[in-house]
Amino acid sequence: MKHTIALIAGDGIGPEVTAGVQRVLAAVEAPLIWDEHPAGLAALERGLDVLPEETIDAVRQHGVALKGPCTTPVGDGFSSVNVQLRKKLDLYAAVRPVRSLLGVPTRYDNVDIVIVRENTEGLYSGVENEITPGVVMSMKVATEKGCRRIAHWAFRYATQRKRKKITVFHKANIMKVTDGLFIRMAAEQHEREYPNIEYTEAIIDAGCMRLVQDPSQFDVLLLENLYGDVISDLCAGMVGGLGVVPGANIGETHAVFEAVHGSAPDIAGKGVANPLALLMSAVMMLNYLADTRTDNTCRRCAEKIRLAYDKALADGCKTRDLGGELGTMDFADAVIERLGA
Ligand code: NAD
Repeated sequence: MKHTIALIAGDGIGPEVTAGVQRVLAAVEAPLIWDEHPAGLAALERGLDVLPEETIDAVRQHGVALKGPCTTPVGDGFSSVNVQLRKKLDLYAAVRPVRSLLGVPTRYDNVDIVIVRENTEGLYSGVENEITPGVVMSMKVATEKGCRRIAHWAFRYATQRKRKKITVFHKANIMKVTDGLFIRMAAEQHEREYPNIEYTEAIIDAGCMRLVQDPSQFDVLLLENLYGDVISDLCAGMVGGLGVVPGANIGETHAVFEAVHGSAPDIAGKGVANPLALLMSAVMMLNYLADTRTDNTCRRCAEKIRLAYDKALADGCKTRDLGGELGTMDFADAVIERLGA
């Protein structure tokens, strides 16, 4: 059995890290066939839409995509490819495991947090207006359906993965209606369907302080869209940076796997970007294929890659963001040398 995967290399460091990851996946003989499509600046350069319809259709057709980052201009310009893709495919759950890694020393050695971010609502509605000259507004949208389904997804995930506790970070003291709905739906899921999981809430400012004081007190964090975006990078900083945090955007029928990091224009084209976050995302993708298509080969490949990158890091093979000297492809080769070791 082979799985056709929509491949979106993206722009900036996207093509470099994607090439490194494809090299590892080929070496482990993962049963994958790539169907590559452009998005972001790479699509614009070819005279296409920033998110071409054919790219979305490919994800719809294959059900699964591996995606590199896409640049979004600040202020003016086109709206985020990433947000568009998540909305168009209704990929409402972003899941980002953040773990301390052996061989990557940081201030903390005990981080094991899974971030579950609502991916389609909140301030990412894209509804912004000038009400009158000098007065602008941005609309924060929360729906009962959206809040309930992400809460349900998080509790089901926590139960399946044998996690113990879900904490919602919110600002319902100020945004009483929108964040109020978010915590109400989460508390309702806990009471009605998942009393097995401990449930707590924290006002996000105090939650951030507690997070950096002692991350081990948190297990699964459930967050609305903007908070999930910000807290993901904060947590990445606790385990070595954006080069080591993977992610998945999951809906009822489709899933797009991508690292938390962006297109890193400051290092793009230099061959120094860390491919590990995207490689970890590919491991999540293989496990997703194993779960949803009962394919044990994918599970075995995922496990081999995970052991190999753990060993590479423990052996001191690191890219520059982690204090090492390896380039993107050198790190991919270091992982390949340890496959099956
Ligand atoms: P960024 O994540 O691209 O970079 C932040 C810092 O982390 C930079 O110093 C960068 O060099 C470093 N970094 C990131 N990934 C790295 C890697 N794999 N290896 C080594 N170092 C790495 O964030 P930014 O600079 O704020 O954003 C750049 C662009 O990416 C923006 O246009 C933003 O909108 C976009 N973005 C896209 C996505 C996505 O496609 N999912 C996510 C976040 C940001």
